Amino acid sequence: MVKKKKFNPDETLCKLVEAGSLSDFPVEYMKLLTPPKFVCIKCGRVARTRKNLCEPRSLHRFFNDKVQGTSESQNVETIGWSWDYDQYRNK
Ligand SMILES: [Zn+2]
Repeated sequence: MVKKKKFNPDETLCKLVEAGSLSDFPVEYMKLLTPPKFVCIKCGRVARTRKNLCEPRSLHRFFNDKVQGTSESQNVETIGWSWDYDQYRNK
């Protein structure tokens, strides 16, 4: 018997793609991406909620048009993570 496919919006995008949900449920999948609020620093995917990403990082800073940033926009508590890439490279 063929298992009936289901779309699980609580799953990470990586797992959804792996399970073929992107091709089976493209609209449902795209709904999870828009508007993009987080980026996965592992695979580069973007999503509206952090629960759909394996290593979510907030895009908050870009929405504020402060890519160069003030010290406030670089505050770990404000954006939820550090922009120190060496920190990730060494992991
Ligand atoms: Zn990922």
